[in-house]
Parts: sequence; structure tokens; C-alpha cells
Amino acid sequence: MTDVEVGQSRETPDVDGAYPRLSELQIHELARYGRPRLTHAAEVLYQAGDVDCELIVVLSGLVAVIDPNKPDEPIGVHGPGRFIGELGLLTGQAALLTAVVGEPGEVLTLPLDGLKEVALKDAVLADLMLRALLIRRTVHIGLGAGLRILGSRFSPDSRRLRDFLARNRLPHRWIDLEEDRDAEAMLCQLGVAPEETPVVIWRGEQVLRNPSNAELAELLGLRHGSIEQTVCDLLIVGAGPAGLAAAVYGASEGLNTVLLDSVATGGQAGTSSRIENYLGFPAGISGMELADRAVIQASRFGAQITVPAGVVSLASEDGRHLVALDTGEQLAARAVLVAAGVHYRRLDAPGTKQLAASIYYAATPVEAAMCRNDPVVIVGGGNSAGQAAVFLSDHAEQVHLIVRNTVLDQDMSRYLADRIARTPRIEVHLRTQVRELVGDRLMESVIVEHLDTSETSRLAARSLFVFIGSEPNVQWLGDSLGLDDKGFILTGQAAAAHVSDEQGDARLLLLETTRRGVFAAGDVRSGSGKRVAAAVGEGSLVVRLVHERLSDG
Ligand SMILES: Cc1cc2nc3c(=O)[nH]c(=O)nc-3n(C[C@H](O)[C@H](O)[C@H](O)COP(=O)(O)OP(=O)(O)OC[C@H]3O[C@@H](n4cnc5c(N)ncnc54)[C@H](O)[C@@H]3O)c2cc1C
Repeated sequence: MTDVEVGQSRETPDVDGAYPRLSELQIHELARYGRPRLTHAAEVLYQAGDVDCELIVVLSGLVAVIDPNKPDEPIGVHGPGRFIGELGLLTGQAALLTAVVGEPGEVLTLPLDGLKEVALKDAVLADLMLRALLIRRTVHIGLGAGLRILGSRFSPDSRRLRDFLARNRLPHRWIDLEEDRDAEAMLCQLGVAPEETPVVIWRGEQVLRNPSNAELAELLGLRHGSIEQTVCDLLIVGAGPAGLAAAVYGASEGLNTVLLDSVATGGQAGTSSRIENYLGFPAGISGMELADRAVIQASRFGAQITVPAGVVSLASEDGRHLVALDTGEQLAARAVLVAAGVHYRRLDAPGTKQLAASIYYAATPVEAAMCRNDPVVIVGGGNSAGQAAVFLSDHAEQVHLIVRNTVLDQDMSRYLADRIARTPRIEVHLRTQVRELVGDRLMESVIVEHLDTSETSRLAARSLFVFIGSEPNVQWLGDSLGLDDKGFILTGQAAAAHVSDEQGDARLLLLETTRRGVFAAGDVRSGSGKRVAAAVGEGSLVVRLVHERLSDG
């Protein structure tokens, strides 16, 4: 089927590859698992908020995809051969947009089970569709389609909600009460008092006053009420690369697997603009795409993924491990994997508290949109700071990179250091540290100091990105597991040595912690590689060790 044949002059061109046209052969293949039906003008095929939507292939006529906040300006209009649907239909998330028939004709509708069948039989077609859905999600994030958040940039709750949506890769538009002239009129129209902000506008009509992350997650289908499995074989704390790998291998190898994360799936990797050293992706892969692909894969094998679900304690009783959540729920598991990773240290300089709203710990398309055409300062000399500098140089007016080292490639991969040297918009300040942040609610400049000369200079900046050293996420463990002197979890021989110091001989498996049946993998583990591939490798290996421990009784 070609554009000429279609003759749909009102169809939106597909510039990003988000709406590829399927061949007649591919439609024929999909028809085996779907159901054709006629459509009528203005018929709503699915609307924002619907869960368990079906994939829709347009056979004739036109279908418009609409942001419920702007119903008169369709995001796209699609004709025969194109398919309509969102990434969330593969993971149980609610639809964020609405699909309406623009010109009557015929569509083919495919339920999720049908799509799963297609994926098993035709890998090429399944990959084409998955790729299009992933690109679609990125396009919608760029457009700010879907949810609206109205609030002041100085409100900690505004920042919490924006971070939650950003980390979960959910398209939204942010309306700043401090800057947007129409915002107050909008609040009036919605009957919301300024002190009730931030508000989230859902489906273009429903107003949620300062919702918690958990409430929002439930609405969006990320979390489905309470967790179904209160007793499982393998409970994984942390859905970064290590946790996701363990979920894929655990669920695919017959373990009843539950994966929990306090914030979002993807972990640190989900905040990386481009991972270039992960095997099998010679052109690199964005952290967002890697995380979404892994979530779909783990869900397909039956892992139960719940976000947000923060684990607050770990204990053991009668051969079972008990994990308590911040919601008050308690789960029991035969084995536990701690894959809680690390978080970046906070910068401790005058002005950081007052200007917290202008400080970021990730650099994804969402943060880039917030500092478009502004000067920014990045602190850190490692790969994450380097990646952030390269990425933000495409969006910010000027990027200053503050590094304590004498040479850039001391802690940074050479390929990144070379790329930074070739990017005129990035200015590197070696042997330098941040002294003070200056501004009245809004950041205006950053004062930096040369470490050798103590000379200070003032750099104009609207935002500060911090990537300085990391600390393990272990506070919630109390003293339930043995840690090294920096707080990372001991495993294997080191854990056995720690236990035998206290209680005599202990036989522990590789990656097993001081508590039998509790494993640790990825960045949180003492001596780990601190790389995506290392975390994925350890997360996968843990599953074999869990089988060994469980068969041991
Ligand atoms: C910006 C950036 C760029 C990077 N780029 C690269 C790169 O190009 N190549 C590379 O190899 N590596 C890169 N890294 C490093 C890589 O991302 C990490 O090594 C990897 O993500 C570690 O995976 P992990 O699963 O061990 O932990 P994490 O990715 O840290 O994930 C841990 C997860 O556990 C969750 N968690 C923590 N505590 C709890 C709790 N109590 N309850 C529930 N959940 C909890 C967290 O929310 C988090 O999602 C980068 C890191 C960053 C930050």
C-alpha cells in the first residue's frame, strides 16, 4: 500500500518513524489474531484513561489521535496501513491520549493476547511495532501531550510530581504559575485556589489536587491497588538494570517473581541520555528505551512489577524473608534480591537549599526541556557528567562542566572526553569546584573556585546538574545485612568472612549476602562494576544462585 494509493492528503506525515505503514502482507498476518469492524464518523476508539486498550490497524478511512487537553488540534491523523495505540498497552498502563474516527471506514482491532501471539510468530513485525510504540512515546514526551501539571516551580510538591512523571517516562506538560500568564485564569476556571496547587489535570477534565505519587501511579495503571502476590519465590528490591535482568530471568525460569521500585523502572540507567557501551547496541541506546524494553520483556514472562513501592525493612522468620513497604503492606519471599543501586551525593554549598528547584540529578529530555536556551552548570568528572554535558549542549545556550581532576579523561571514558573537546558549546573548568549558588528563588549564577589558585569566578547559570560521587541505597536495611566500610553490601566470600567473624563458619553462595537466601547485585554490592552490563550480568546470575539455594532447602 503506498501513499499515492491511499491518497490521504489530510494524513499526518510520519517524520519520526512513529507511524510506519504496514504492508498488505503484514496486515494479513495481523488479521489472523484480530477482528475487523466498520467505524463511523466521530466514533471514539479509545480514550485517555482507558486500560486494556486494543491495538487498532486502520484499514480504510482516517483516525485522529488527540490530546484531551487540546481536542481541537489533533496530534496526528492516520490512514490505511497505519496502526494506532500507545506503549502502555503492552504494560497495562492507561491510555494518555484519545483515538477518534476522522473519516469512517474499517479498522482491525487486536487484543494484547493477539499481539503476544504475533510476537511469537513474526519477530520482524513485532519488532517494527515495538520500535514504533517506543518512538511514539518519545514524540509524545517531546510534545508535552497527555497530563498537565499546574504549580509553582518553587513548590517541592511540584518538583516531586514532575520528577515522578519524568522518571517514569510519562508524557506531560508543565505549566509554571510563576511564568505562564494564563495559568491563573486556568486555575480560576477549574475552581482551584492557589494554595491547593500543584494540580494534575487528567483526561483534560479531572483535577487532582496535589496527589501523592502512589495515587497518580494508580490512576495511570502503573500500580494496581495492593500487590497481588503476598508470598513469592523471588522478591527483587530495585528495578534498575540488575533488578530488571533478575526479573526477566527469574520469571522466564519459572520463579514466581515480584519486582518493586520506590520511584520508577530503569534506575540510574533510565536517566542516561545514551548508553554507548552496552553490548549489542553499536549506535548506543537511550536509557529510557533500554528500561522500557526490559519492562515489556519482564512483564511478558509474568513478573509482577509494582511502582512506586518503597521497601522500608527486611527481616527473616521461619525460613522466609519478610519485606515491609512504605504503604504498610508486608510481603514474604523464599529469596530476596537487593538491587537498590546508588544515589548521587547532594552538593553541599551555600545556596543549595534556597535554590533546590533549579538543581537536577538527571539529564533526560524532560530536564532538557526545562533548561532550553539557558546557560547551565554541570558538576562532576565521571561518565554521567560527561554524557549530560554532551546531551545538554544540544538544548542549553552554554554548558559549563566543573571538574576537580587535572585532566578530563581521568575518571571519564576517552570517547566522551574527546566528544566534549569537539563541542564548542561546552566549556570545561578543570581543577575547579562549586563555591556558592547565587539567586533569589531563581538561580542566576554559580561561583566556582580554582583549587590551586583559590581564584573565584562567576558563571551565569539557570540550572545546576549534579553528578558527584554516589552512595549506596542501604539506609532501609538497618543492620540486617553486612556492609563494607563505605556502606556497600558484602556478598560471597567477603560476606562469609564477615559472618564467620561473628558466628563461626558460614557457607554462602556467590552474590549471597550475610543472610542466607538474600542476594545483592549491581551498584549496591561491594566490589561491583558500576556499569549497566555488570549490573545486568549479576542480576541474571543471581537467578541460578536462587535456584541453588531454594533446592538446598
Ligand atoms: C546519568 C547516568 C549515565 C550513565 N551512563 C552509563 C553508561 O553509559 N554506561 C554504563 O555502563 N553505565 C552508565 N551509568 C551507570 C549505570 O546506569 C549503573 O551502573 C546501573 O544503572 C546500576 O544498576 P543497578 O540496577 O545496580 O542500580 P540502579 O540503576 O541504581 O537502580 C536501583 C533502583 O533501586 C531503587 N531503590 C532503591 N532503594 C529502594 C528501596 N528501598 N525500595 C525500592 N526500590 C529502591 C531505585 O529507585 C532504583 O530505581 C550511568 C549512570 C548515570 C546516573
